[in-house]
Amino acid sequence: MTDRLVLVINCGSSSLKFALRSESEQKPLLSGLAERLGTADGVMNWKAGDIREHVAITDGKHSTAMASLLPLIERFAHRPLTAVGHRVVHGGEHFTGASLIDDEVLAAIEDSAPLAPLHNPAQLTGISEARQVFTDIPHIAIFDTAFHQSMPPHAYRYALPEALYSQHGVRRYGFHGTSHRFVSTQASLLMGLEPGHGAWLTAHLGNGCSTCAVLDGKSLDTSMGMTPLEGLVMGTRSGDVDPNLHSHLARTLGWGLERIDNMLNRESGLLGLSEGLSNDMRTLVAARAEGHAGASLAVEVFCYRLARSLAGLAVALPRIDGVIFTGGIGENSPLVRELTVRHLALFGLAIDPAANATPPGNPARQIQAGNSPAILVIPTDEERQITEECLALLDLAATQPVEQEA
Ligand code: AMP
Repeated sequence: MTDRLVLVINCGSSSLKFALRSESEQKPLLSGLAERLGTADGVMNWKAGDIREHVAITDGKHSTAMASLLPLIERFAHRPLTAVGHRVVHGGEHFTGASLIDDEVLAAIEDSAPLAPLHNPAQLTGISEARQVFTDIPHIAIFDTAFHQSMPPHAYRYALPEALYSQHGVRRYGFHGTSHRFVSTQASLLMGLEPGHGAWLTAHLGNGCSTCAVLDGKSLDTSMGMTPLEGLVMGTRSGDVDPNLHSHLARTLGWGLERIDNMLNRESGLLGLSEGLSNDMRTLVAARAEGHAGASLAVEVFCYRLARSLAGLAVALPRIDGVIFTGGIGENSPLVRELTVRHLALFGLAIDPAANATPPGNPARQIQAGNSPAILVIPTDEERQITEECLALLDLAATQPVEQEA
């Protein structure tokens, strides 16, 4: 069989991220990011091997950015694309896995747009533009929420009046599913377990952060909820706060909903705790070492709340085969891993300081001490996971055409 190629696309309101992945290679053949779309300063930076270049997108249009991908793909692919995989943030309750995009799927993505007003509309634009440029090949949607559709009702329901769930979709959905799925699958390989097996607590710590309890390849609970604001402290997002905060701020300060939303999503988290110093964990770790009180507090709260979330999710599992750290912070910050695991001594978890200090850029590895359950650092690769899910769906469709149509 030929080495199949998938173009992975992640479209935001002002950006277009892409990667050309082959079935067999660990690294992208071509990857890049078009930014500042919607302005006259639109630009697309890309790299392929050692080549790095940029293209101006002067009309700022998504369609122009998408069209400028075509010659690049022709230059670096040397064979036809097999599929285009689109990352979509919210699939609501419609999607439990990768889905071939047709009119029905598009309508369902649109249906979920009220739950992700900043993301789903932009991703629908990306899908529509890509279908016009890359014709005659399957386009497949991969949802951040799909992996968590295996959560049982006691994990996904809020204690709210039933009609809000049944009529308005108010429930916990969870996000970062592609990453939690990828690292838990890799963990089984690393620990020599049966493929896809194991009881894992995963921590995806990037600009957005979430935890997940995964048993034998299924998400049983996760820290994010109806939106990606629930749960952990993040770069600029607050994570959990008292639900009465909204009415308190409205009553006492006269703040409107937009201002409160903006504060919780863009001015809080590490940035808010560090007195506005930074949302970047690297800056905070360095400032903490210099004695910056706000940076110290931000790091402490981040790690404590992360540990508390992992401890809470442990109740979803029959045992703990391992705790997995991933994402920019999880993969690269020995300090965050150390401070977090210190709060989890009750579970017998302990870190080996030398293994924890191994410089970033290393492959997946174990960093636990002595008899501790496994503690793993596993670089995430959401594009690889999307590629694999696209190809698996096509293989399934080839063997079960009737089921696919149903
Ligand atoms: P991601 O969204 O996965 O790219 O992760 C972005 C986050 O990773 C940012 O908050 C960075 O501060 C963080 N990060 C990257 N490298 C390091 C590092 N060496 N130490 C601490 N945090 C890091």
